[in-house]
Amino acid sequence: MDYNQHWLLILITLLPKYKEKKMSSPLSGWKNVVGSGGRGTCSCGSWKNHWINSEGDWPTYCSVKNCYERAEHGAHVKNNDEPGERIIPMCSSHNNPDFTREFSIKPGTKCSDAIKD
Ligand SMILES: [Zn+2]
Ligand SMILES: [Zn+2]
Repeated sequence: MDYNQHWLLILITLLPKYKEKKMSSPLSGWKNVVGSGGRGTCSCGSWKNHWINSEGDWPTYCSVKNCYERAEHGAHVKNNDEPGERIIPMCSSHNNPDFTREFSIKPGTKCSDAIKD
């Protein structure tokens, strides 16, 4: 096998994994990450900016299903079907340590990785 074939093989094995990661997030089974409020942010300055830097235009409304309060914060959330923590736009009443129940998100909600860059 020559050098070029070797790289092609690596690409072929990596591509399906990349596609898998880009699959849309589940709509139900989300929960707030408790105690994320005091956590520092990445170089974006805030988790809201972090979300905007990776996903684009900030939505008008909260991502929680049936909530039509204004999205004000980038909230840390998690889902048993997703690895790691995610950031979604949320209103101030949902981005709250007292909001502990499981919730669903609106279809099309973009869930940004909560990775510090
Ligand atoms: Zn960031
Ligand atoms: Zn809300």
